[in-house]
Amino acid sequence: MNYTAILEDIYHQVKPLLTQGQITDTIPELAHISPLKFGMAVQTIDGSLFQIGDAAEKFSIQSISKVFALTMAMQLEGDNIWTRIGREPSGTAFNSLVQLEYENGIPRNPFINAGALVVTDMIISHLGDARRSLLDFIHKLSDEQGIDYDHDVAHSERETGFRNAALANFLKSFGNLNNAPADVLGAYIHHCSLSMSCVELARSSTYLANGGKLPWNDETIIAANQAKYINSLMLTCGTYDSVGDFAYRVGLPAKSGVGGGILAVMPNEFSVCVWSPGLNPSGNSLAGTKALELFTTLTGISVF
Ligand code: GLN
Repeated sequence: MNYTAILEDIYHQVKPLLTQGQITDTIPELAHISPLKFGMAVQTIDGSLFQIGDAAEKFSIQSISKVFALTMAMQLEGDNIWTRIGREPSGTAFNSLVQLEYENGIPRNPFINAGALVVTDMIISHLGDARRSLLDFIHKLSDEQGIDYDHDVAHSERETGFRNAALANFLKSFGNLNNAPADVLGAYIHHCSLSMSCVELARSSTYLANGGKLPWNDETIIAANQAKYINSLMLTCGTYDSVGDFAYRVGLPAKSGVGGGILAVMPNEFSVCVWSPGLNPSGNSLAGTKALELFTTLTGISVF
């Protein structure tokens, strides 16, 4: 497969779309990023890397961090996770409060904000310092010790994230947080502020394409069936309330973030990450979604 030529073709085709999306306005620190940024990286499980554009430039991974936090919670809690979080698409915005009220404080899935707050609470209960432990975990997954939080982004979200604060307090009122809402929120916001490139994200998620093991040293991160579970959840819940449209167009398990990144996994083959900051109305990268649609169309590779 000539991935290099395919990535060049994709970049050419999505360029006119780069200015059509909306940069997130939920986190002021992210508002100044150029909409012209575009990067894409493919990391195969047999060790080949293909990249184009701004694939090596770091950006705010935001909700993509929910995949890594869930992986940690699966390591720590196994199936107990599902006594406190559901596994169904939400059909509502990622930061919605209303569904949580109807469903007695049990978030629909681990990839909406409420679900990720519960996941973060689990990590704190087991390990104490959820900031440090997630960072250590990312260093292992990426084999790259320089990855860090962007404290300006975290601070910016802390100052303006009233809705997430409401969600944390709401969860606590239902008894679905064991730790203090402020502590859970602080760790969650830091997880979202991780600053990583497409190349680093594609590499960090190869365990999901490789039956739960790091491809370069065969270390087991999670069991093969747990990797399957996470991929399934990405397919059904990973791209907000347009997850059906995304699955139809792209046909890969994926997780997006409001920083404009989308991570996608092709089991037994590769991980691919795309970044373009302009978002569509659902909060997924507009050009990034198109790029992934083109990628699965041009390669003929998808889970379907
Ligand atoms: N930090 C953002 C939030 O909690 C992440 C949202 C996202 O990327 N969907 O609202």
